[in-house]
Amino acid sequence: PQLPKYLTGNSAAIDEFLDKFDVFLLDCDGVLWSGDHLFEGIVETLELLRSKGKRIVFVTNNSTKSRPDYQKKLTAMGIPSNVEEIFASAYSSAIYISRILKLPAPKNKVFVIGESGIESELRTEGVPFIGGTDPALRRDITPEDFAGLADGSLLDLDVGVVLAGLDFHINYLKLSMGFQYIRRGAKFLATNLDSTLPVNHTFFPGAGSITIPLINMSGQNPVALGKPSQAMMDAIEGKFQLDRARTCMVGDRLNTDIQFGVEGKLGGTLAVLTGVSKKEHWEAEDAVAVPAFYVDKLSDLRDATK
Ligand code: PLP
Ligand code: CA
Repeated sequence: PQLPKYLTGNSAAIDEFLDKFDVFLLDCDGVLWSGDHLFEGIVETLELLRSKGKRIVFVTNNSTKSRPDYQKKLTAMGIPSNVEEIFASAYSSAIYISRILKLPAPKNKVFVIGESGIESELRTEGVPFIGGTDPALRRDITPEDFAGLADGSLLDLDVGVVLAGLDFHINYLKLSMGFQYIRRGAKFLATNLDSTLPVNHTFFPGAGSITIPLINMSGQNPVALGKPSQAMMDAIEGKFQLDRARTCMVGDRLNTDIQFGVEGKLGGTLAVLTGVSKKEHWEAEDAVAVPAFYVDKLSDLRDATK
């Protein structure tokens, strides 16, 4: 594919770029901020997009937060938003379960590997769940656990789904339980498959790295609900009735954001260099995806003249 068009410092090209789109799907971490550090000029850039009548959707793979949690973060950063504009992977997982899978009760319970953001989105959708932040599972496995998992007495027979996301208390007991549920026929879902999580200029294990052991032991691939999964794109399209040809995905990561936009056949993709991926990544012969446009940083769009 063609290399991306560089927009930084080129006002005419920025005007032309902005005219092509009505909707911007904005990745968050690496585009708007890094962790708790808001990038300079972001508030003004989003104001500019809104003043031009552009629709904004915040699309993040971070499953540790619910949409209201995310809105609090946006507000704390000084970014006005509506909760309905936020599409996070915990939310996309919850609506996939409640509105697409629609498992009949009683076998509709979810075994969660993950944090409170997932639990709160499941609660909002009225989906029953176990696991998650339950402190009873934050311990070493015992001989009684092995016995109870083997004969099923320790399992909740109403579990029909295993949903895995980033879990800061992952352990052998939780993995064993998830595995037993999948073996017994539970559907296997993952909030997102990010291999790593960028924190403080280095990387930590991401949700994908929590899910890989379950893939390895079960021999099954989960349905993933975060970028680049097109299940997430379909959910966004359904919710916002967007015209893909007039929609641009903005992100910092080729194998999540840019691949998401390219596979979703959006009108365009914009890469920023304030996060994970670098120019060399899309210039490489084996690049997973190549953006259509790139800027050094999102706030470079403020050079628009119109
Ligand atoms: N998952 C977790 C748990 C995170 O904390 C983050 C970033 O903060 C991500 C995924 C990546 O988020 P994004 O899709 O906004 O880059
Ligand atoms: Ca990102």
